[in-house]
Amino acid sequence: MVAPGHYSLRSINLSRLLSIRCNRARIREQFAKPMVITSGYRCQDHCAKIGSTMTHTTGQAVDVSVSGGPAYELLGIALEEGFTGIGVKQKGAHKGRFLHLDDLEYKPGEHIRPTIWSY
Ligand SMILES: [Zn+2]
Repeated sequence: MVAPGHYSLRSINLSRLLSIRCNRARIREQFAKPMVITSGYRCQDHCAKIGSTMTHTTGQAVDVSVSGGPAYELLGIALEEGFTGIGVKQKGAHKGRFLHLDDLEYKPGEHIRPTIWSY
């Protein structure tokens, strides 16, 4: 479960944020920049209210406030490290841009994973 706020990949253990199956230490080393989590865990009611997918109800998804070069870098790391859901919002004001990252597994009847989408 992740609360919105400011996190540094240098100071936090990403495994507490995401139950990713890959080498978390490499992400921290590779993306050694402050990382702002704008959305972590959401309850189902909140997701329904804001019209969001339910990926955040699992505790396996984060939205990271990032744009430009750092977004490109984080996207590369996320692909390399096996995240299975990547949402890209890189339009509009920089402060509103983010990457959604999750590691949900494919379940029959749901969207194919790995997948990527834009907002
Ligand atoms: Zn998200």
